[in-house]
Amino acid sequence: MTRYDAVVIGAGLGGLTAGAILAREGRKVLVIERGNSVGGAASSYKVGDLFVEGSLHVTGDPRHPRDPKHAALGRAGARDAVPFVAAGALYEMRGGPLTQPFVLPDDFIGAREALLARFPDARRGIEQLLGEMERLASAVGDGGLEAVFALAPEFPDWSSSLADKLQALFGDNEALKCAIAGNLSYFHDDPATLWWIPFAMMQGSFLLTGARYVQGGSQRLSSAIARAVRTAGSEVLLRRVVSRVEMGEPGGIHRITHTARDGSDPQAVEALTVIGNAAPGALAALMPEAQADRLTESYAGRPLSLSLFALTLGLSQPPREFGVSSFSTQLLPDWMSDLAGYAEGKTLMAGEPAQRMPPLALADYAAIESGVPSPPYVLSVVGPDQIANWSGLTQDDYRAKRGRWQQAIVDHLDRIYPGLAGAVTASSFNVALSVQQYLNVPQGSVYGFAPLPPDDDAPYRSPRTVVPGLYLASAYAGVGGYSGVVQSAALCADIILRDAGR
Ligand SMILES: Cc1cc2nc3c(=O)[nH]c(=O)nc-3n(C[C@H](O)[C@H](O)[C@H](O)COP(=O)(O)OP(=O)(O)OC[C@H]3O[C@@H](n4cnc5c(N)ncnc54)[C@H](O)[C@@H]3O)c2cc1C
Repeated sequence: MTRYDAVVIGAGLGGLTAGAILAREGRKVLVIERGNSVGGAASSYKVGDLFVEGSLHVTGDPRHPRDPKHAALGRAGARDAVPFVAAGALYEMRGGPLTQPFVLPDDFIGAREALLARFPDARRGIEQLLGEMERLASAVGDGGLEAVFALAPEFPDWSSSLADKLQALFGDNEALKCAIAGNLSYFHDDPATLWWIPFAMMQGSFLLTGARYVQGGSQRLSSAIARAVRTAGSEVLLRRVVSRVEMGEPGGIHRITHTARDGSDPQAVEALTVIGNAAPGALAALMPEAQADRLTESYAGRPLSLSLFALTLGLSQPPREFGVSSFSTQLLPDWMSDLAGYAEGKTLMAGEPAQRMPPLALADYAAIESGVPSPPYVLSVVGPDQIANWSGLTQDDYRAKRGRWQQAIVDHLDRIYPGLAGAVTASSFNVALSVQQYLNVPQGSVYGFAPLPPDDDAPYRSPRTVVPGLYLASAYAGVGGYSGVVQSAALCADIILRDAGR
């Protein structure tokens, strides 16, 4: 039986990054992916003529030394492999309590000027918040979550939620709160439960390094990291499903079985280390009962993050022809009179589309040098969703309901951008259920564990697990999103190298 230093379950960004770093350190690595291509959520593909970006709207610029991906992608041999293009601004925020659209530039100086120009009475709060965000974003870029946690004694409101933090700084100025945090679905679904520290470091990272898109699509980044694994002499297997993981004694040999997607052709390999890029819940399902129970119990009480729906529209003309004026636009619905209302967004698809639309995040890939092929011109529409919205339906009912929501979203966009609906020539609509099925993630969760305030009794996040020899390289090991995943995957590789050297 072939023996590897490390077997990685899943070729999402986390699994690929950890695999590439270990392979480039001379370890013999096998990455096993059930999908047709590498990347997991960080994939782009074609549906007929339509280019579908599976996830990416924006990430920070990895060429900036304080971007959390900077060192990790460098060590994985992929930092300079693909161009990252400027998104122009972090976003244009429209609707909700904002009477006029507000553009938030993607740098601290520009953001400060724009916020002070629009909200001059809130100068003290704006300066304090941006200052703290810059501090936290710099710390995470320099030294990861450990460096962020070292700052805790300096923040009396360390454990506050985002809602409490913004209330303390801005009172009831809901327009300002939305101008600063209305892109909430990039992190979480509810400001009342979102811990303000991860919000500050992630939103701050965009402002510190600049908002970027991977030119040509996120698949290019994932493929570049997979190439680095192979170039270093290790292997990436596609269309193979890990069906069993038996962890041996501490320090011993572990056994991993993988099959073809129809369950046929089982093959077993041995590994000194197992890296889970798949979610802990998916890993537990592969393990013998006692090991599975231990793993599951260690994460009990940690709610999962939100899911997202993603409607990709192909248009016969560029979205700017209909009034879409930024690469990234956050459309807050009229019923959302305050930031707290965002929490309701994920529940709306439980019912039928009526008057209430969820908040929507648009990305117009024709607005920048995205490298996304056109025509059709691609407009991505993302919003908060949850698996409960789609459960208990027959296949036919599910498809029909999804179709009605798609139509309602297009009609809604047409009211804001007249003529847009008539230009739609192609579409692809993924909801929480598609995310769950496509990525094998419980509840369709896209950012790992929900970014809630820390529980004093448990370590916040770590690539380590309670099962000796099993590590995590995924959104569950740090914070979710491209930056958090890539950075925590490098930490995973470091811990494994350190443990092996003991
Ligand atoms: C619609 C959408 C929009 C997003 N927008 C952004 C954005 O603009 N910016 C940003 O930073 N982040 C964004 N994200 C989040 C980001 O994409 C994810 O947090 C990140 O890609 C997760 O990476 P991962 O490596 O942890 O896991 P995943 O990408 O989930 O990869 C896990 C992999 O494991 C594989 N796998 C699971 N089980 C098995 C098994 N048994 N055998 C073999 N393989 C297995 C899966 O097939 C998958 O490929 C978005 C996500 C979505 C869905």
